Amino acid sequence: MVMGSPAREAEVVVVGGGPGGYVAAIRAASLGKDVLVIEERAELGGVCLLEGCIPSKALINAVEVMHAAAEAKRFGVTFGAPKVDVAGLRAFTQSVVGDLTKGIAGLFKKHGIEVVRGRARFEGQRMLTVEGGERIAFKHCVLATGSRAATLPGSDALGLWSNREALQVPEIPETLLVVGGGYIGLELGLVYAGLGSKVTVVEMLPNLLTGADPDLVQVVQRAAAKKLAGILTEAKVARIEKKGDGYEVAIEHKGETKTHVFSKVLVSIGRKPNSLDLGLEKTAIRPDARGFIPVDDRLRTAEPGIYAIGDVTPGPMLAHRAQAQGKVVAEVIAGHPAAFDARAIPAVVFTDPEVAWTGLTETDAKAQGIPVHVGKFPAAALGRAKGMGRTEGFAKVLSDPETKLLLGAAVVGPHASDLIAEATLAIEMGATLEDLMATVHPHPTLSELLLEAAEVGAGAAVHIYVKK
Ligand code: FAD
Repeated sequence: MVMGSPAREAEVVVVGGGPGGYVAAIRAASLGKDVLVIEERAELGGVCLLEGCIPSKALINAVEVMHAAAEAKRFGVTFGAPKVDVAGLRAFTQSVVGDLTKGIAGLFKKHGIEVVRGRARFEGQRMLTVEGGERIAFKHCVLATGSRAATLPGSDALGLWSNREALQVPEIPETLLVVGGGYIGLELGLVYAGLGSKVTVVEMLPNLLTGADPDLVQVVQRAAAKKLAGILTEAKVARIEKKGDGYEVAIEHKGETKTHVFSKVLVSIGRKPNSLDLGLEKTAIRPDARGFIPVDDRLRTAEPGIYAIGDVTPGPMLAHRAQAQGKVVAEVIAGHPAAFDARAIPAVVFTDPEVAWTGLTETDAKAQGIPVHVGKFPAAALGRAKGMGRTEGFAKVLSDPETKLLLGAAVVGPHASDLIAEATLAIEMGATLEDLMATVHPHPTLSELLLEAAEVGAGAAVHIYVKK
């Protein structure tokens, strides 16, 4: 690339073709904008599609089917021992990812969105250069550069797994150490445990799944403990060394340091925003101390004409937030009166049982001194959950003690990921407990969990006795 070589012009340039970027591009094109996407990977879809949400859920589904088959003997149905065909598992996951990436490429074609491959950097406030080639002058630019896995310092040469390697299922190791007990570590750890590895999870903090209320975590942890070889909280990996085919790992726990040997080590200690090496110094944009790009509710950065969405911005690093912001940013660029002002962004952990929450959590309510009333209903009292043999979970709703406005909700149990959508809509619509209760829910379904929790919250419980 020659500095000063002629630049092509684009009305809207989106940097990054992940869930935030591709959604912003499609929505902007459907609003009549001329859109160009710059993506450094060979495929569209970003972390979520290529090495995150989608492949992980395909693997989780396979493991859950095996688990359900094993559990079926409780209902009087017995299956033979499952056989895992790793090549088949890999091929299925890759075909799911392949179909979805092709789907995005097809939608781009239909919307007339051009893709330029390569790494983009700012050359000026209105100019990007793409590594090895073009200069692109833009009117509007959306930064949707996402995030990458954080790594353990000094571990680059050790060949440790990140989510990327783990999701390719290169092998089923005899023993696996998962460093980090957040949702990614726990989901992937349980996949490998289901496939036959002896999995140990090490978490530095006192609890797994930081951010989730302890009563939810307790249910997940109890179930996970039956499947994992070990869960060590308040534990720290002090040293990792490659030894033969495996790893020697020193773990500090309860004041003692012990050395263990593992076949593989998966590191999932969080994610970092991709804001480095973008040439931001050529603009007015200054990432915060953690590397996130600050934006306002219209997703505008400090540089007029440049917007940012998704994992590179402060907030929950989740695909559905990135996608929702992608739609808003396109509408803002098109001059619509749009803003990203979600009252509730659901969080889901696809463990077995699943756990999902939305809006205010009890932990946050306590920390922020917000008074809440909590209504909780156990799955053990729900007909559908009993019929499924899945009575370990519960639902809870948090409401304003005065107005009865729904402020938050959580579900732990099967299909929590789907059930939480109703509560999210209710919070967005400003629903009260009465509104949830007056909505007729189909019977017998797991959706009744939230209805029953609302009834408990309103002092109108029917299916459990709550002392007044
Ligand atoms: P990304 O998906 O990170 O995409 C950014 C894109 O920008 C990438 O393709 C990258 O190559 C490209 N790029 C970056 N810099 C440049 C540049 N300078 N030039 C050109 N291209 C560039 N979220 C959920 O909501 N639900 C889940 O179940 C879930 N599961 C997950 C499981 C795992 C194992 C992981 C790792 C993540 C998971 N996530 C999940 C999180 C989710 O993947 C992210 O929140 C989401 O991908 C963020 O989307 P994004 O568009 O902001 O960025």
